[in-house]
Amino acid sequence: MERRTRKTGIVVCLLLATLSLGLSVYAAKEVNKYWVHDETRPLPTVVIPGEKPGEPPSDAIVLFDGENASGLVHDSGGKLTWHINKDDGYIVIPPKKEKAGGMRTEKSFGNCQLHIEWASPEVIEGSGQGRGNSGIYFMGKYEVQVLDSWTDNNYKNNKTYADGLAATIYGQHPPLVNVCRKPGEWQSYDIVFLRPIFDGDKVVRKARVTVLHNGAAVHNNLEIEGASAHKTVAKYKYHPDKLPISFQNHGNPVRYRNIWVRELAEEPYLIKGPTPVKE
Ligand code: MG
Repeated sequence: MERRTRKTGIVVCLLLATLSLGLSVYAAKEVNKYWVHDETRPLPTVVIPGEKPGEPPSDAIVLFDGENASGLVHDSGGKLTWHINKDDGYIVIPPKKEKAGGMRTEKSFGNCQLHIEWASPEVIEGSGQGRGNSGIYFMGKYEVQVLDSWTDNNYKNNKTYADGLAATIYGQHPPLVNVCRKPGEWQSYDIVFLRPIFDGDKVVRKARVTVLHNGAAVHNNLEIEGASAHKTVAKYKYHPDKLPISFQNHGNPVRYRNIWVRELAEEPYLIKGPTPVKE
């Protein structure tokens, strides 16, 4: 009697196991090997978010945290020459007479997400492209402009060309809207950049960029026409898959703080699983 009960128990267990296995992979069978509700599909890596908005998630590379700028160097690769103010936690572009040059990341990046905060000089000097000009060059080539573009009188206080305003892809695309804060006030950029892909000298996928300026989307998965250039049409020229991000010294004392970057994998555009679908 006891033996039969045990046997029945084993059969029930096997039935339940089979049933649960069947349920867990049903989607793969039913949807012709597409990744749809398939529990065998790899799950994403777990990342701990920053405690507050603007703070780096746990997988970010912190380039400047208010004191330490170990991820940043001079354009030449030597020691950083921009000034760090540890009391107020920012980096500032030195006066022109110091001939400090530019700043760049020590590490190279391709696809990435960048968070950066910046402030135009509090003391207003110059006009147009000479007022609070700097910029962020992804791969050292594709510039998201930094400029004092604040206006409360339809640009009468400071005119410049549309493709040179803050948050432009310089020389190409103005932002969808101008959400600049006043000079001296801290502003944020959150930028997702996808590198171009080359086949030899030919570009087979142009670079793309999404930019949030002070939380507002001002470029939405926008195609970049080529390396930023002055008074000429942008073009692509072959370069490696990863290059440093550089920051422009245009001779204006622009401040930067809270700079971090995350490397991004190529997103799989298809939802097919690892097994080829047989037609
Ligand atoms: Mg610039």
